[in-house]
Amino acid sequence: MKLYCATGNAGKLREFRQAAVGLFELEPPPGFASLPTCPEHGHTFEENAVEKALYYGRRAGGLLFAEDSGLEVEALGGAPGIYSARFSGPDAGDESNNRLLLERLRGARNRAARYVCVIALAEHGELLGAFRGEAAGEILEQPRGTGGFGYDPLFYYPDFGCTFAEVPAERKFEVSHRGRAFRSLLAWLEANRARP
Ligand code: IMP
Repeated sequence: MKLYCATGNAGKLREFRQAAVGLFELEPPPGFASLPTCPEHGHTFEENAVEKALYYGRRAGGLLFAEDSGLEVEALGGAPGIYSARFSGPDAGDESNNRLLLERLRGARNRAARYVCVIALAEHGELLGAFRGEAAGEILEQPRGTGGFGYDPLFYYPDFGCTFAEVPAERKFEVSHRGRAFRSLLAWLEANRARP
């Protein structure tokens, strides 16, 4: 059996897929690439994750999850938050987002930040649960490392003594917001369902 992962973000899919190896097949829902992208009306990660899971769940059969995630920076009042992907505008990319983040934090002494991820699980358009994970760190003044994606080269994780872009994906997943949310999803599946 399969668990569908409704995300168009290659970095997220790569991390989820690696974590699912040996557990179950994880793939995008059938026809996902040709579906119009789900509009996001929510004001929280939870609301957006649920909206995506219900939207794609109504259009694809089977057990499906969607996630919403982002970076909350204390000195920026929690920004970019749910707007992390488009922080630097509609044509934003990782590079322009990271550049803007460094600009906004120029001279800031408080560089505390956390990643947040919420995974919502649905089946045939019905919500089964939502699972949250967080990872706390600091924003460096210069990027370090070439792994990961998004803000990872700037996200210093104190327990590792380096950024998320400087560790292998499996190591990041052990502590990351996405890894924590995913393990809660797995625990829920173990408790409530036969393994998908
Ligand atoms: P979403 O697709 O609307 O959930 O946006 C997620 C955005 O948050 C990504 O495009 C990244 O900018 C950022 N983000 C979320 N998780 C991570 C991560 O694990 N590493 C780096 N950036 C992340």
